[in-house]
Amino acid sequence: MTTIRPLVAGNWKINGLTAQLAELQALKDRLASEPALGADVLVCPPATLLAQARWALRGSMIALGAQDCHPLPSGAHTGDISAEMLADAGASSVIVGHSERRTDHGETDALVRAKAEAAHRAGLTAIICVGETEKERRDGETLEIVKRQLRGSVPEGARATDTVIAYEPVWAIGTGLTPTPEDVAEVHGFIRAELGQLLAPREADRMRILYGGSVKPANAKELLSVKDVNGALVGGASLKADDFYAIVSAYRGENAA
Ligand code: PEP
Repeated sequence: MTTIRPLVAGNWKINGLTAQLAELQALKDRLASEPALGADVLVCPPATLLAQARWALRGSMIALGAQDCHPLPSGAHTGDISAEMLADAGASSVIVGHSERRTDHGETDALVRAKAEAAHRAGLTAIICVGETEKERRDGETLEIVKRQLRGSVPEGARATDTVIAYEPVWAIGTGLTPTPEDVAEVHGFIRAELGQLLAPREADRMRILYGGSVKPANAKELLSVKDVNGALVGGASLKADDFYAIVSAYRGENAA
């Protein structure tokens, strides 16, 4: 069986002024005494905090990520940020295709793929989000939607070292609702099989598949121990060091999922 080191990633969205960096410092301090932690830890603050967060995290095991990027490296695109700029600011990963961007900005699978390719071009890991809406789940379309998003959004030649998939049911994000462990297992198993169709077996077998959607300290252990769940993408609960630390602690003493 392939061993995959899990990843717990925090997505701060547009939460976080300079004062929020105190939570990052608190998380850094708590994790400093966890040499046996069995997971990688990533925090994705707003782009405005990347440079300061980079300095705050110096010497820690916490990696820095961003929440979106433009497909192009530079040019006349006011207000956008390229993957190269994110790398230059200290990011090692970038989330692409989050459902809030797919909904708020009408991002298509093709655009998400272009952003993932931009991330790879800049040397960043692309965290590609997929997931169904409440209606799609009710209509029994979950696997079909996830399949379409994977086929449209994952770049050809994606590798386990440069790409992470995040399964985030849209109806579970920020709502306190979560799928049952059985439902999570079904979708994650399906994603693993789909990756097998799209990528070289070695990459498909090793690629991390995160679960995201209302992960909290109280449900982390149960959700993160589901087969083929290789970590979590955490929104609201990543804003408080105590909560995020408690979620990361689901992997205390473990070496792999
Ligand atoms: C997210 O937005 O990626 C997310 C999972 O949010 P939350 O944990 O708040 O549901």
